[in-house]
Amino acid sequence: MASVAVVVGASIGGLLSGLVLAEVCDKVVLVERGELSDTPAHRAGVPQGMHAHGLLAGGLAALEQLLPGLCRELEQRGCPTGDNLRDTAWVFSGRRLALGDSGVRGMTVARPLLEHAIRRRVAELPNLSIRTNLRVTGLLYGAGRVKGVRLVPALGGAAEELTADLPRPTDRYRPSQNSGDFSSKWWLVGALKRRSRSATSRRRSGPREFHGDPAKSGAH
Ligand SMILES: Cc1cc2nc3c(=O)[nH]c(=O)nc-3n(C[C@H](O)[C@H](O)[C@H](O)COP(=O)(O)OP(=O)(O)OC[C@H]3O[C@@H](n4cnc5c(N)ncnc54)[C@H](O)[C@@H]3O)c2cc1C
Repeated sequence: MASVAVVVGASIGGLLSGLVLAEVCDKVVLVERGELSDTPAHRAGVPQGMHAHGLLAGGLAALEQLLPGLCRELEQRGCPTGDNLRDTAWVFSGRRLALGDSGVRGMTVARPLLEHAIRRRVAELPNLSIRTNLRVTGLLYGAGRVKGVRLVPALGGAAEELTADLPRPTDRYRPSQNSGDFSSKWWLVGALKRRSRSATSRRRSGPREFHGDPAKSGAH
C-alpha cells in the first residue's frame, strides 16, 4: 500500500519535514491554513515574520545540507553572511563585545525570503503537494494510531478527512550506521523510530521539568 504522510503547516518546519518525508514516503501532503505567495511576502500565519531574523551557523549548515546551494542563492539575493564575532556587533549591558575571529559563520535573512527560497525548492518535489487555505481541526484515529487529519476550508465550508499512512522505519529507510549520515537529513526518520520508545518513557516518568540553567541540566 502507498505510504502517505500529512504535515500540518507549510512554514519552514513543515516544508523541511515534507522534504525529508518525501524520501521515505510515496506521497506527502502539506496542509496550510493560510495563503502562500509566489513571492517572498509576509503572511498572517507567521506573525513573527516581519521581525529581523539571523540564521546561526548550525541552522545554516543544516539547511545547506538539506537543500544544497541554498546559502549561495540567499547570498546572491542580498543576505549578508559573516563571522558571528568579527562581523556582528554584540552589545551586552551597553558594552560591545571585543571583535575577533570565531570561525562561526551566520547569515542575516528576512524570514519571508528564507521561507520562499525553501518552499520554491520543496514544491518541486514530484511526490509532494501543498494544499492551502485549509485548517486542520483535529486528528483521525483508528486501531490505536493516528490515521489522518480533519480539515475545514479556512474561509468556511464543508469539513474533509485526509488519511495518512506512515511507513514503519525499516532497513530500506535506515542510513548506514557507518555512513556518518545521522545529521539533519535523518533526524525525522530517526524520530519516527524513537516515537514509540519516547511515548512509553513519557508515560512512565511523566513530563520533565527543568529548573535553573538548562545548559547545566542537559536540556536543549
Ligand atoms: C520575535 C521573534 C524573533 C525570532 N527571531 C529568530 C531569529 O532571529 N532566528 C531564528 O532562527 N529564529 C527566530 N525566531 C523563531 C522562528 O521565527 C521560528 O522558530 C520559526 O518561524 C518556526 O517556524 P515553523 O515553520 O516551525 O513554524 P511557524 O513559522 O510558526 O509556522 C507554522 C505554520 O503552520 C500553519 N498552521 C498553524 N496551525 C495550523 C492548522 N491548524 N492547520 C493548518 N496550518 C496551520 C501556520 O499558518 C504557519 O504557516 C523568532 C521568533 C520570534 C517570535
